[in-house]
Amino acid sequence: MEVKLAGYNIDSNIIEKVRATESLKGLPLTPETVAVAYARISRDSSPVTELRKKSLEDVEAARKSAKSIVFEMNHQSVAEHAVFNFDILDISRLCIESLEWHRLCSYTEKSQRYQELVGDYVFPKEFEGEARPLFERTMKDQNDLYTKAFKVLLDYFKGKYPQMLEKKWDRRVVEGYAKEDARYAVSLATKAQLGFTANARNLEYLIRCMRGNPLEEVKTLGEKFFELAGGVAPSLILLTDPAEYMKEFGRPLNDDFFIKTHPNASRLASETMERHGGISREGDEVKLIGWNGQGDRAILQAILHSHTLASAEACNEAAEKLIRDGEAEGFIREYLAYSNPWESATREYEFADFTFEVILSSACYGQMKRHRMSSQLVQEYDPGLGFTYPPSVIDTGLQKEFGENYRQSSEAYYELSKYNRAAAQYVLTNGHRRRMLIRANARELHHISRLREDAHAQWDVRMVSGDMLSLAREKCPLSLMLAWGKDRFPEMKKELLGS
Ligand SMILES: Cc1cc2nc3c(=O)[nH]c(=O)nc-3n(C[C@H](O)[C@H](O)[C@H](O)COP(=O)(O)OP(=O)(O)OC[C@H]3O[C@@H](n4cnc5c(N)ncnc54)[C@H](O)[C@@H]3O)c2cc1C
Repeated sequence: MEVKLAGYNIDSNIIEKVRATESLKGLPLTPETVAVAYARISRDSSPVTELRKKSLEDVEAARKSAKSIVFEMNHQSVAEHAVFNFDILDISRLCIESLEWHRLCSYTEKSQRYQELVGDYVFPKEFEGEARPLFERTMKDQNDLYTKAFKVLLDYFKGKYPQMLEKKWDRRVVEGYAKEDARYAVSLATKAQLGFTANARNLEYLIRCMRGNPLEEVKTLGEKFFELAGGVAPSLILLTDPAEYMKEFGRPLNDDFFIKTHPNASRLASETMERHGGISREGDEVKLIGWNGQGDRAILQAILHSHTLASAEACNEAAEKLIRDGEAEGFIREYLAYSNPWESATREYEFADFTFEVILSSACYGQMKRHRMSSQLVQEYDPGLGFTYPPSVIDTGLQKEFGENYRQSSEAYYELSKYNRAAAQYVLTNGHRRRMLIRANARELHHISRLREDAHAQWDVRMVSGDMLSLAREKCPLSLMLAWGKDRFPEMKKELLGS
């Protein structure tokens, strides 16, 4: 066996230094050479190390190959071998939502739980002109409330947890509680920053989506990605042009293409809604709306299948027998004997899945959207769904002011919707809500539970994930017996398994 380190992502400051060095001028500083060398592996029997040398020696030929392999032969996965990192500063939370919609990438962003906000926000181009004063006034009112609430909440939490004021780390945690609750006052226009990593395949797809997004800020971000990555790897960032897209796929590059290009279906959808009583905003905040019948049996079947040579049918019969004879629980207990809170549940747990409808705050969505191994669909934010109040806001008597802030922000939203509905969402706060459909299998539910039902998790997402898990546990008690937050895991394991 021979393994060579063929490349890795290095800081662009170093790359710039190399570019500026006279003796190194002309070096092909692009990830395309690696991607093309790997693409050529499929048909060229030369050692891959030679293929990499060949790409380096003739970058133009490599680019030509990339174009034909990726776009003409549709072998797009080779573009995944080129990886980019981006520092993204001064971006709104709303814009981040469009970016993080893309699951096969990596993100780390400024936390509003751990950092105090300073009132900075992105002003959306959509509201230049007469709408500007309303937007700016709303931002000011929200930020004033944040400043006031932060002080009140800090005193409240200091009073509540006096024992935590002695050590620096614990004091920070107490400050974090105040930050994470005060932030329910501020909007989706609030500035953030993040580190973002994507391979060329995802980046190209993401740029294409961003160019068709209704928000100017998202379009601009897409353009910046295109300029920066397209400049370095032009052969891998190609199919991002709206006109080309229309030609290729016969539909516009636009998020709301359903309404624009399917007028009959979209009319039928609205008429059917009307017949069913229009938009109802009542009901539980977390509903389990679907699951695959016998999840425990499906997981038992999968475990038996991957550890024997029996057919799926035979494994199913055996799983049913284990359940009928009351032996399934003992079987699963033994199967879980070596599990720990840091390792994921095994792949067999992917064979039972659950669909939830959740009404959740923007603060909570910001966390839930990071669970990439699930299927999520969201509606726009809807002030008609009510608002989320942090318990501390209620305890400190700030609820009236938060309620007024939520209502004023909603009014600003309706007013700004007259100019641009998608962009009007910028003024909505972390306490405004939306509906989400989330489908997750039992393996991902274990993960969500470990991270989000845990004591370190923020209360809003802890409540939502707790509700999701208790609904799922009713349907799949055996398989989810150890799906608990990291903190409760040892105690639950001891209770269930004895040691
Ligand atoms: C207490 C707490 C504090 C947090 N603070 C911050 C913060 O300050 N800033 C911030 O940006 N985020 C923060 N997060 C979010 C966190 O970084 C994760 O994005 C989020 O919890 C989702 O976890 P995940 O990526 O493991 O889950 P998923 O995306 O659902 O992935 C599930 C599992 O699949 C695997 N996986 C998925 N994608 C990849 C991949 N591309 N490469 C390798 N493996 C992959 C991993 O095993 C992963 O655990 C915080 C989370 C918690 C619980």
